[in-house]
Amino acid sequence: MIDTHAHLNFNAYKEDAEEVIRRSLNMGVWMINIGTQYDTSKKALEIAQKYPKGVYASVGLHPLHLNAGLVKMKLDKEEIAFNSREESFDYEKYKELAKAEKVVAIGEAGLDYYWRPKTKRKLELFKEKQKEELSKQLRLAKELNLPVVFHCRMAHRDLIEFLSNSPGIKPGRAVAHGFVGGLEELQRYLNFGFYIGYNGIIFKNIEGINFKENIENTPLDKILIETDCPYLTPSPMEGRNEPIYVKYVAEKIAEIKKISYEEISRVTTENAQKLFKLYQ
Ligand SMILES: [Zn+2]
Repeated sequence: MIDTHAHLNFNAYKEDAEEVIRRSLNMGVWMINIGTQYDTSKKALEIAQKYPKGVYASVGLHPLHLNAGLVKMKLDKEEIAFNSREESFDYEKYKELAKAEKVVAIGEAGLDYYWRPKTKRKLELFKEKQKEELSKQLRLAKELNLPVVFHCRMAHRDLIEFLSNSPGIKPGRAVAHGFVGGLEELQRYLNFGFYIGYNGIIFKNIEGINFKENIENTPLDKILIETDCPYLTPSPMEGRNEPIYVKYVAEKIAEIKKISYEEISRVTTENAQKLFKLYQ
């Protein structure tokens, strides 16, 4: 299996990343560690380069890292070693990283309107800023012919509209990671040809979200599984999440899709290999 969205590059694994990765590879679980800013992107690549196969990296700038002083938000100390906040995407710096063989995608990049400024003017600026930084990352993905890992929270309508209006930079290959949205939004992403990533959040009750229905309506050949570790630990596990727990997500999807665990493991692995070109 392949955990298509992990963060072993985060501080949460500062003491034991190698142990967690070993455990995972021994169980046959590969992983892609996802960058959220320059430091964590670089770290994801450094980790990937230690392993001949099974560990890959994605580099990008998460929308939460570009608040541009417009909104107050909580920093996650599990994520970064120091409170470095990038305000914009440095194209050339990221390009240098992204050219490495172990980098298999650009992201996570996207829109996140969870923490939002209160005044209308600031809110507009905030949204504009996020779209501007996303555009740069989509251009880089195009230039290097890499797929995009989208992060989108409380902003699906805007992201879909943005992508529809920007055919020049809309990626041909992408995943809507950790999808939390409605059926109509799901359908729009599928129409774009995107994969849909599911993680431990499907075990939660979120008002207005029907994960079962979403999964039923996602074709098997478009499903990716992920952990988003250290976050979103799937039931019945507790505490810090890690790549091997992706099996609980796979089990849940198998149950919803009424197919075997072996089948879902096989298909989602093939999907990830195809999207990220992970053949070695
Ligand atoms: Zn993530």
